[in-house]
Order: sequence, then C-alpha cells, then structure tokens
Amino acid sequence: MDMTPQETIAYIGRMLFERRLTDFAGGNISMRVGEEVFMTPRYSGAKQHWRVDPQTIVHGPLNTDDILDHPDFSREGKAHLAVYREFPSATAIIHAHSFYVLPFCAAGRPMNPILEATEKFGVIEPLPFAPAHSMELANTVCEALRHKEELITRFAAPLLLTRHGIFVVSTDLYRCLDAVERINWNAWCVLAQGMLPQQP
Ligand SMILES: [Zn+2]
Repeated sequence: MDMTPQETIAYIGRMLFERRLTDFAGGNISMRVGEEVFMTPRYSGAKQHWRVDPQTIVHGPLNTDDILDHPDFSREGKAHLAVYREFPSATAIIHAHSFYVLPFCAAGRPMNPILEATEKFGVIEPLPFAPAHSMELANTVCEALRHKEELITRFAAPLLLTRHGIFVVSTDLYRCLDAVERINWNAWCVLAQGMLPQQP
C-alpha cells in the first residue's frame, strides 16, 4: 500500500537517525505535494527521538504563511518554504546533522567527492555562515541553489551549512536520503585518508 506523505516522512526520519545521518538536536524533513507542504514538527529529535508519529507532521498551504503560525512548526523550516517557493521543481528536502559531515561544517571546509558515487555532486562548498532559524539562512540557501538547479532534478542538490549541517533538495525524498548517505560516507573517507598507513 502506498504510504501517505506523513508516513513517508516518518519513515525517512527513522532511517536518518538509525544510520546516524542526523542527531537529537535537529534536522528536518519536508515534502511538497501540489500546493501543500508537509514537514516534521519541532523537537522531532529531542522529544520524539526520530520515531515521529505521522499524525504530528505539520502541513499547510505553500503560498500563505499560515503554516508558520502552527505551534509545532519547526523553526528551521523557513528555509524549506523559501526553497519550495523559489524552485518549482523542488518537492523534497532533508536537512540533517550527519555524523561525518559535521566536521566539514564545523570547520567551514569544502568537501571533495573522492568516491565515484559522489562525483555527480562535484565539490560541495560551505555556505557563508548564517544563524539557524534566520531568514538570512533561507536567503543564503536559495542563492546557493540558483547555481545547482539542474542537480535538483537530475539527482539531488546538496549544500553544507557552516557550523550547522547538510541541506539536500530533490524531487524525491528517497533521493535526498540516498544523497545524504553517500555524502556522509564520502566525508568519512576524506577524514580516514589521514589514518591510512604509509605505502611501502
Ligand atoms: Zn539543523
């Protein structure tokens, strides 16, 4: 049986947490279906431990600000709305605090694609710092996506948020999940290069 948007989002949240692709502190998952947006509620990590009850998924129309008034609207969700409003092709977003990606975010360092599986993303540059929850962050995300619009429909467009996490935009949530996982493993491989023994 097909899953509802709420069930799909809840499933993706469990996967992210089980695979250590996000943490208790944050992350959020959203989908656009027609003119409606569905998004994980605030405290999905801290209070629901990423076993999000589908009935708690917040939803509302894209073209009004009604959803912002919902008491459980995630404060990190403003960037999602801004992306859906500016890029009609975007219908799925994952923002996550992925274990191996966070060192790159913390240092504001670009990530080279060193696996064949991540070549399609090119070098992922960190965005200029903007505080979480701010409109400045939403604007910075949209500005960066203007240079990656083709990746949104071709696979998924990833962004590194300095001192924060990863943000991936696509046409499908499963593609977003796939991209987050690939980039997390790529990050591990970059970090692990320094642990390899010297070649004889
Ligand atoms: Zn976050």
